[in-house]
Amino acid sequence: MAVKEQDVAAIVKQVLEQMTNSSATKSCGCAGQKAACGEAAIPATAKVAMLTGLEKFEIKEYPMPQVGDDDILVKVEGCGVCGTDAHEFKRDPFGLIPVALGHEGTGEIVKMGKNVKKDSAGKDLKVGDKVVTCMIFKDNPDITMFDMNKQNVGDADVYGLLPDDDIHLNGWFADYLLVRKGSTIFNVSDLDLDSRILIEPSAVLIHAVERAKTTNILRFNSRVVVQGCGPIGLICIAVLRTMGIENITAVDGNDARLEFAKRLGATQTVSFKEHNGIEALTKAVEDSFEGHLADFAFQCTGNPMAHANIYKFIRNGGGLCELGFFVNGGEASINPHFDLCAKEITLVGSWVYTLRDYATTFDFLKRAKAIGLPMAELITHKYPLEEINEALHKNLEMTGLKIAIVNR
Ligand SMILES: [Zn+2]
Repeated sequence: MAVKEQDVAAIVKQVLEQMTNSSATKSCGCAGQKAACGEAAIPATAKVAMLTGLEKFEIKEYPMPQVGDDDILVKVEGCGVCGTDAHEFKRDPFGLIPVALGHEGTGEIVKMGKNVKKDSAGKDLKVGDKVVTCMIFKDNPDITMFDMNKQNVGDADVYGLLPDDDIHLNGWFADYLLVRKGSTIFNVSDLDLDSRILIEPSAVLIHAVERAKTTNILRFNSRVVVQGCGPIGLICIAVLRTMGIENITAVDGNDARLEFAKRLGATQTVSFKEHNGIEALTKAVEDSFEGHLADFAFQCTGNPMAHANIYKFIRNGGGLCELGFFVNGGEASINPHFDLCAKEITLVGSWVYTLRDYATTFDFLKRAKAIGLPMAELITHKYPLEEINEALHKNLEMTGLKIAIVNR
């Protein structure tokens, strides 16, 4: 049978329309099957990187769970590797094995229950939106990690640190995640993938700078020292720079990191390897501010000696934010008379973040991009899910900055 030319054109048009329809994900009732109605197909199984033993992830395949009326099924695009993941991988200090890890993840909503309407900030949610979850999950924005440990442990949906259950899709090191009722979720469709992977570590610095601001010492024209140029110190510099702080000295022992610190907003750098002893190092910091000590300092290393040293860099009446000791790094010894009292230092500690900081972080990442800070280069290594063991070993090596799993 001969097909007329205009018929061919009509068939092509119809096929093209079907293709466009199926690539645009739509919310509809057809759960889990390839869809006549045009919803993107959700596979019958999901892959999860399950930590089944020390230093051993296995890629497991589980049936795709039912999406309940309050649930959200997310197709994972990527997830940063955190120090906590590396800790759990190496030693299982929380006794979670078997566990699906990964809490710095992001992905796209592929299906959601009929009761789900808005994210934790009140923004609308729909299929196709890009989202992140947050470790802080109660709707009180002032609840910090510390409060959570005291008050709410037990009903926490901290994806990536939950014990395994019969759903299994509990961590972001996977190709799908099932977000359940009561979880904290944010619509971050206006951020690119790299920015979304950097949300969680960036929130730590938004919180630290908010803590620093409570001292009333940090100002636009402050001389600021940031000690430690790992991911946390580097992001600290970027946050300060996007706020309009223009006089920042980065201190570290690694020249490549100090170079990167400059590109993220540091105006001066001091390598502690080039200065022998605390007096020489203090002099170098002073020289970097043309003969002045710092008005404010951020301590971003986990080294007790670094905590003891940093007081020397700060002027009388200056301020210090200590945020380097995310975990117990041991005791530091200072001389309270010389370091703290006689100098009248205002000291604040900072740990994790609040929900409010999370929302602020989205704006920070947009501003950082707008002023051209190379934030994406903080992600130095990207691995597919299948190479998650290599990714964790790379993290433990400490030769990169942010390591991430990125799904193809
Ligand atoms: Zn983390």
